[in-house]
Amino acid sequence: MSKLIDDAIARLRAQGLRITDQRRSILRVLTEAKSPMSAEETHVALKKEACDLVTAYRCLEQFEKAEVVELGVRENGTKVYCLAHGQGHHHHLTCRSCGRAERVDLCMGKELEEVATNFGFVEVSHVMEVFGLCPDCK
Ligand SMILES: [Zn+2]
Ligand SMILES: [Zn+2]
Repeated sequence: MSKLIDDAIARLRAQGLRITDQRRSILRVLTEAKSPMSAEETHVALKKEACDLVTAYRCLEQFEKAEVVELGVRENGTKVYCLAHGQGHHHHLTCRSCGRAERVDLCMGKELEEVATNFGFVEVSHVMEVFGLCPDCK
């Protein structure tokens, strides 16, 4: 567990970001999370630790730029974040009913990004999520 946090911290340092208590706490919450979390959920999970919602949002955006977290999106459009797990890019299958998320290491986004590049787009990225009902909920 702490290896994940250490890796993330090393990455943030390499990007020139200071490791504040707030950033460390957010990393810990994401490490312990079973599925991707929104900024609001992360903020709630921080409990009494001093970190307001705006700070949580900003930290997560910085983490995303530093590629320490992966950005995802729920069906309702809420942005969610999960730790990059040191293995980088991945996607999730998310249960619409209970919210359980399965990690999938398969990505078919490369072809789409190539298409975008052919259109002359730069700094291309993608967010792709699959939703359904898990075996327990169907
Ligand atoms: Zn479910
Ligand atoms: Zn992908």
